[in-house]
Parts: sequence; structure tokens; C-alpha cells
Amino acid sequence: MADPTLSMDALRNFAQGVSEISGLSRGTLMESLSAIDMRDRDMVEDLVLGACRAAQQASGSYAAQFYRGMSILQTGSDFDARALDAYDREKTLIAIRGIYNQCYLGDGEWDEERLASALGDRVEFEANRAAKVGVWKNGQLDSREVRYARVPVGAETCAWCLMTAGLGYWFMTEESASHTHAHCDCAIVPAIGGIHAVRIPGYDSTVYRDMWREANAMLRDGAVPRDLAERVDRLSQERPGYRVDTNGALAVMRWKYNLK
Ligand SMILES: [Zn+2]
Repeated sequence: MADPTLSMDALRNFAQGVSEISGLSRGTLMESLSAIDMRDRDMVEDLVLGACRAAQQASGSYAAQFYRGMSILQTGSDFDARALDAYDREKTLIAIRGIYNQCYLGDGEWDEERLASALGDRVEFEANRAAKVGVWKNGQLDSREVRYARVPVGAETCAWCLMTAGLGYWFMTEESASHTHAHCDCAIVPAIGGIHAVRIPGYDSTVYRDMWREANAMLRDGAVPRDLAERVDRLSQERPGYRVDTNGALAVMRWKYNLK
């Protein structure tokens, strides 16, 4: 049987839905935050935790619907996809506290505008991540063989997203599936039932793979501007575990293709 095909439009609809859930959740939270005293930490924490949980549930159940649709499209059979709760209260709390620290002005005052905006970003991030992890987890529960690809759908793609998009369909790790950032509109697409690839016109993993290879070759051959090479060298000395082969090549990709 030929590889099944998924239209880029259908995928874009899914990504658009996730981005609307993220954006609306952010907007709703920001509205509440604008009406309260942000020095009331307990109140803010409670609101943000609630917003993150609701956003994750919404995008998790949306991801389950997507997975179910993929199962029917690719294999002709239904799958009991579930909205899996990826919500981690502790992690969200740590993030909120970190944001408060970053926005502290001293004397019991915070930069409230920056604070609200960063908390809004967090809700967006969690909604985004839940959509990706939601697809991945359903694939892990599926008894059929499932591979996944990260497929960039919109304009805002980072170097890391492109690096992994270049891998095509593979037995992705949760860590890789969960990667996301502000306005990341990549979708995690499952190839279900031993299918090696779902054809998506407009997604050609070899294009991204070649960008990655090119960046590696440039780094190896010293064909990058001196200030970039020096920055990569410095980071590798300053940061234990900084991998020049991976992080250096990502830095070259950002520079060469003007990515985030
Ligand atoms: Zn992305």
C-alpha cells in the first residue's frame, strides 16, 4: 500500500487550533491579572496554575482528536485516543517563581507588565507543549508501531525544530516531542501501524536535513564569521556539557538562515 497522504491544509488547521487555544488562554489570564494586585502572590499563583491546567486539558483533548483522525486516515480503523493529563503542578509553580524573580525591581515591587506578559507566555508554552506531548503519548499507548515526525507548519520555526524536522519519521523520544517555544507551530505527526511515513506535500525532511548538514560542514571547515566561531568556542569553554557539534551547528543554522 502506498504511504497515506495528509494535506498541509489539514495539518495547518490543527496547528492553528492549538495556537488559538494557546492565545485565548493567554488572553484570558492576562485579563484577570490586569484586574488584581500582582503582589498578591498566592492569588496570582492560583490563577496561573488554573489557566495552565485548563489550557493543557483543552489542547490535550484537541491532540487526542487529531490522533484519532490520523488513525482513521492512515489505517482505516478507529483508536480510543485519550486526552492525557500532562499537567505538572510543581513544574508550573517553579516556573512562576522563576518569573517573579526575574521581574523583581526591589522593595517589594515587580515590573508588573513584564510579569504579566511572562506569565502569559508560560500558559501559551504549556498549551503548546500539551498538544505535542498529547499526540506522542497516544502513540505510546497504541499497540501498533508508531513513528513520529516534527513538521513545521508556519513561519516561526527555530533551529532546533528544523534540526529535528530533518530526521523525518522516527521513534521519537518524549523529550524531543515536547520541545516547543513561543509561537512554535510545529505539529507532531504520527505514522501509525508500521507505516514508515505519512506523505505531507510541503514537508520534505531532506530539505531540513541538508540545512543541518550544511551548518555542520561550515562549522567543521571554519567557514563561519569569526565572531560566531569565537562565541561558539567561548560557550564550549564556559558551559560544561556544551556540545560544539550540536549547539555549534545550531548557532550556525540560526545565523545562516536567520532563525531563532
Ligand atoms: Zn517549532
